[in-house]
Amino acid sequence: MSAEIIDGKKIAEEIRREVKEETERLKATYGIAPGLAFVLVGDNPASQVYVRMKGKACEEIGFYSVTERMPAETLEAELLRKVDEFNRDPRVHGVLVQLPLPKQINEARVIESVDPRKDVDGFHPTNVGKLVIGVDTMRPCTPAGIQELLIRSGNDPSGKHVVVVGRSNIVGKPIVNILLQKQSGANAVVTIAHTGARDLTVYTKMADILIAAIGKPEIITGAMLKEGAVVIDVGTNRVDDPSAKNGYRIVGDVHYASASVVAKAITPVPGGVGPMTITMLLKNTLQAAKASIQP
Ligand code: NAP
Repeated sequence: MSAEIIDGKKIAEEIRREVKEETERLKATYGIAPGLAFVLVGDNPASQVYVRMKGKACEEIGFYSVTERMPAETLEAELLRKVDEFNRDPRVHGVLVQLPLPKQINEARVIESVDPRKDVDGFHPTNVGKLVIGVDTMRPCTPAGIQELLIRSGNDPSGKHVVVVGRSNIVGKPIVNILLQKQSGANAVVTIAHTGARDLTVYTKMADILIAAIGKPEIITGAMLKEGAVVIDVGTNRVDDPSAKNGYRIVGDVHYASASVVAKAITPVPGGVGPMTITMLLKNTLQAAKASIQP
């Protein structure tokens, strides 16, 4: 039997509708539109696409947004001044510096320069720390989106054994910290695996819910899964495909064909986790705008 498909596009649209409705209420009640500032340094083509997509999403939902484009030679001090300007701008509730940054700029210092209340990426050490100790805070977008996917597809992680493969600061570690909280929609028993695992299958076979955030095309196969597992594939990998118009296609970290006959439910790539990331950025910005209102 083939697994149920967890439709990230549909769930993302549902959340965007909710965010739009709340945005309209916020405007009508307080005259405030959530505002997001993007800072793009250099001309990395992927970053340009991401920032354009995020700006378009803001427009569609009724947010105020502004994009500051800075040349690749920008000095760290100039970037920090720009971030500070947005930190002080009352129209802006979220400041997003698109990563990666050119090599003359220290990424960690830039992340720390964003006002934690405007840190809609959830990368600031203050927000990371709050997440770890279980204080309500801004959560990184991709992992927050994964939790929404699980809950809204009827696969509540509570009481389940979740195995996360990958320990990056943007996906692997924060999803572990989100899902192990003693809260509804979380409260999972969590294991995290990485390249230090001698035999990855030992861990993946134990997962009720497997989250793959590896960045290696199709390395998790059906044979590595427990029968009836729920599979969340975060991977976005480009592989050559001469039959495709542009010569490549995007695949996940999970081998979809073999996994989908073993799993109970699975996210497709594309159309699974991907659409959730920008959606959660919008949700975080709305949260920051609401928090900025004086009681
Ligand atoms: P990353 O920083 O490169 O981290 C990858 C992790 O996977 C590392 O912890 C690494 O272990 C582990 N790993 C690599 N090969 C492994 C193997 N053979 N066995 C076990 N563990 C292995 O990647 P990331 O930023 O987390 O991204 C992961 C994937 O998700 C990428 O394909 C990325 O494009 C995608 N992504 C998608 C979205 C979205 O919105 N859909 C958002 C973010 C990322 P070590 O720590 O031991 O090196």
